[in-house]
Amino acid sequence: MSALATPLVAWHRAHGRHDLPWQQDRSPYRVWISEIMLQQTQVATVIPYFQRFMQRFPDVVALAAASLDDVLHHWSGLGYYARARHLHLAAQRVRDEFGGVFPESFAALVGLPGIGRSTAGAILALSRDARYPILDGNVKRVLARRFGVTGSPGASAVQQRLWAIAEAETPEVDIAEYTQAIMDLGATVCVRTRPLCPVCPLRADCNAYRTHRQHLIPAPRRRARAARRVRAVVMLVAQRDDGAVLLERRPPEGIWGGLWCLPEFASESAARSFAASELRGAEVDAQPLAERPHAFTHFDLVITPLLARCRGHDRVAEAGADGSERLIWYDRRMPARVGLPAPVREILESLA
Ligand code: SF4
Repeated sequence: MSALATPLVAWHRAHGRHDLPWQQDRSPYRVWISEIMLQQTQVATVIPYFQRFMQRFPDVVALAAASLDDVLHHWSGLGYYARARHLHLAAQRVRDEFGGVFPESFAALVGLPGIGRSTAGAILALSRDARYPILDGNVKRVLARRFGVTGSPGASAVQQRLWAIAEAETPEVDIAEYTQAIMDLGATVCVRTRPLCPVCPLRADCNAYRTHRQHLIPAPRRRARAARRVRAVVMLVAQRDDGAVLLERRPPEGIWGGLWCLPEFASESAARSFAASELRGAEVDAQPLAERPHAFTHFDLVITPLLARCRGHDRVAEAGADGSERLIWYDRRMPARVGLPAPVREILESLA
C-alpha cells in the first residue's frame, strides 16, 4: 500500500459511501455512465437520473439503438448536454467497432468520445480493479493539498506533477476501493471551501493543513472575480388553443445542442415579426411574461417569454438538413420524448 492508500482505504471502510446505485453491479458500462453524469454534477442530483437512465438503457447496445432525442430526454435537467451527445456517439462506436462489447483496454477507452485519461482510468479501476490513476477535480484538490502542489490546477506543469503523484500513489491492491475513497474524500471532506481537516485521515501528513494553506491550494480561480456576462433573449411561447406549444430543435453543437427549445430571438420585435410572418392569425400579448434568469458556468441568461395564442391546429413542421423535423407542436399532456432545457420546461409548466 502507498502512504496515501493505507489511511484512505481504512477511512473509506469506516466512513465512505457504499450504497450508491453505481456501486452495485460495477460493470464498465455502469461505471462509465455514472462517471460522465458525476462530472460537474453532485451525487444527490445524479442518483435519480442514473436510475432512470439504466432502466431505459440497460446496456451499451440499448443506448446505441436509442434516438438522440430519447437520450437527451433522459438527460434533461442535468445540464452540460455535450456529455449526453458524446455518450450516444460513443455507444454507437462500441456497437459498430467493438461488436457491442464495452472495451476494457485503456487505449480503446480513451479513443471514445467524451472519455479522457481520468475517466478511462476510473472505469478500469472501479469496475476491474485495474491499476490506473485518476485525476478528476476532487482528486486534484486532495493531492494538491496533501503534497503542497501550488499553482493553478489548469497549468500543464501542475497537471504533470499531479499525474505523477496520482500514478505513484495508486496502490497495487484494493485499487477500486482506493479510487472510490480518494474521490469520496474530495467530495465530502477535502471540499473546496472549509475542508473538514479535523476528521480527515490524511491530516497528519497534509502539507496544506500543516502550513494553514488550505485556502491557497489549489490556487483560487481568477475567473470567479471577473464580472459575469449577461445575455438577454426573447423566447416566443406560441400556444395553440389545444394547449400545444411550438418548439424548435437547437443546432447539434453549442448550448443546449440537440435539445428542443422555445423559438429564441434577440429582441421582442424580432419575435413579433416571426409570429406575424410564420404564425398567421396568432395574437401576441402586448406585454411579455416575467423574466426568467438561468445561470450557466460562464454567463447568465435572462429569458423574456412572449406569449402568442395561435388559432387552428395547423401543423408546423419544417425539415432540417438531415430530413428530421426542426419544429414540433409539443403537447404537455402527451409529451414527446425529447430533451428540454430546464428553464424551457419550467416555462411550459407555468402555462398549465
Ligand atoms: S487535511 Fe484538510 S486539506 Fe489536507 S487533505 Fe485532509 S481535508 Fe484536505
